Amino acid sequence: MASQDLDRRRFLAQLGALATLGLSAPAIPGCGGRTADPCSDLTGLSAQDRQTRVTYGYRSQTLIEAKRCDNCHFWKAASGAGPCGSCTLVKGPIAPAGYCNSWAQPVPGGQAPPGGAPPQTG
Ligand code: SF4
Repeated sequence: MASQDLDRRRFLAQLGALATLGLSAPAIPGCGGRTADPCSDLTGLSAQDRQTRVTYGYRSQTLIEAKRCDNCHFWKAASGAGPCGSCTLVKGPIAPAGYCNSWAQPVPGGQAPPGGAPPQTG
């Protein structure tokens, strides 16, 4: 019991130290925190289009450094001022550092990559 109190005090002290440094848990990568995703506005997307984000396992931040939306065959760079691009498979705004299960290496000539077929949507 005393050990748990000590651990809790130590944790709170460390949390206070982080706050003093201007860091908060949501800003620390790897702590389960998230930064705001500028490409999360799905206004105007149909339910079916929203479902593509789930079906393909889209996430706004890749876990595989070498595989990002902005180096994927299906990526379309932003045409406006914002950071979000688009994708020929997953609907809605796409984060450049995002990723999904259908990531595919770009193919010279723009042909569909082998294995780049979209998953079945049911
Ligand atoms: Fe990103 Fe997936 Fe679209 Fe490729 S297919 S651009 S990894 S969402």
